[in-house]
Amino acid sequence: TDLFLPERRNSCGWDLAHRPTLAAVEQARTAFVQAEWTAAPVLATDAPVATPRKVTNPANPEETVGEVTFATPETVSTAVTAAQPWDTDPTQRRRVLEAAADLYETHYGEIFALLAREAGKSLPDAVAELREAVDFLRYYAARADAEPPRGVFACISPWNFPLAIFTGQISAALAAGNAVLAKPAEQTSLIAARAVALLHEAGVPQSALQLLPGEGDVGAALTSDPGIDGVAFTGSTQTAQLIHRAMAENLAPGAPLIAETGGLNAMIVDSTALPEQAVDAIVESAFQSAGQRCSALRCLYVQEDIADGFTEMLTGAMDALKLGAPWNLSTDVGPVIDEEARQGIADYIEAARADGRVVKELPIPGRGHFVPPVLIRVNSIADMDREIFGPVLHIATFKSRDLDKVIDTINATGYGLTFGLQTRIDDRVQHVTDRIHAGNVYVNRNQIGAIVGSQPFGGEGMSGTGPKAGGPHYLPRFQSRTVDAVTG
Ligand code: GLU
Repeated sequence: TDLFLPERRNSCGWDLAHRPTLAAVEQARTAFVQAEWTAAPVLATDAPVATPRKVTNPANPEETVGEVTFATPETVSTAVTAAQPWDTDPTQRRRVLEAAADLYETHYGEIFALLAREAGKSLPDAVAELREAVDFLRYYAARADAEPPRGVFACISPWNFPLAIFTGQISAALAAGNAVLAKPAEQTSLIAARAVALLHEAGVPQSALQLLPGEGDVGAALTSDPGIDGVAFTGSTQTAQLIHRAMAENLAPGAPLIAETGGLNAMIVDSTALPEQAVDAIVESAFQSAGQRCSALRCLYVQEDIADGFTEMLTGAMDALKLGAPWNLSTDVGPVIDEEARQGIADYIEAARADGRVVKELPIPGRGHFVPPVLIRVNSIADMDREIFGPVLHIATFKSRDLDKVIDTINATGYGLTFGLQTRIDDRVQHVTDRIHAGNVYVNRNQIGAIVGSQPFGGEGMSGTGPKAGGPHYLPRFQSRTVDAVTG
């Protein structure tokens, strides 16, 4: 694998602090404030589908955003049979995927509106997401080569990055020359359908990219269809385990599973850390995107000597967070994805409240699926039995002499996605980063928002199989000449 990047630039994005840019963005997305979209299976052949259902806005469930028609398990086998690897020369694949990146960028107004209205994304989150999607397209396009593809890939993606992760999986599989059957999360089918329409418009053949919006039964049918040669999946560790089992039972031996799963991500703040820097990094890492990132900070460890003052600063910063509709520019924290998610997180917080462990919580801003940011006391990360996918931060304290024990406890969770460290001691940076088991380690900054090409993203242990997305080893895994030993 060539570790050096071919010439390529990341998207320059949209600078919302630049007034004329902000005005242009506002105007472009306003055209879609009342738009309604549709999504349905996009197939290379006719197949049965389910009846349509309404899609609503998570910040305002009375607002209709569009209508989705799901595929059924029967749709899947027809689509698998109709799939044909993208048998063209790599230069052509590169050109088409780059054209798709350009189309994504020119449709920014519609995409920002759709990300807000279907997925509850604030404008800064939507900007970062579109940039990442465009970066994935150009990054993998630049790496298309003549190595043979695997064949037919199932790409199963989550609702939390409905454009970026959806596009990342697909563009790698396509750049490598595979046929793709894309199964987006059921909550964000409209965004997926728009993305697929743009990819087809750019020139990806219908037989190389089919869309199967649907629920878990569609994913299950896909990952156990013997016509599938590999699966890319991002979602929960539990679902990845089910997929792995289904693949082992039904697919040809050696069909790869490329899975990015959950995390129980920690940050350690020692007594030498810059408090303002640490508080900013914590608030961003735990509460941005309403904590709905697998990279998000879940458990903060603060050195006992500074814990009281530091906690006060942190809760003060939480007070300054503005909750509300993602469409409003002043919103820091938008809704969670749906009512089921809201209820699950609310039940978890309620149990902590009953135990007297809630240190700080904010008021609920109104209708919609909102969970206000909350800080919950724990003795250790070992008290957390699962990933809570929302704006829920846990805080523990540690004594300086117990630093290694803290690291061992974090490692013992079995997850290893992101980790943050705030310190001004150089030796400690080396010591901690050598010991911690995590795919992405961030020092003296936030621990979310990995950048394609410069910060390949992915975890260890229960957090994923590797190789990392947005890094040089990812695309070869979609080809039959693969460096199986390499997971970096
Ligand atoms: N790549 C994202 C980040 O660094 C997280 C991806 C995810 O949540 O699955 O924030």
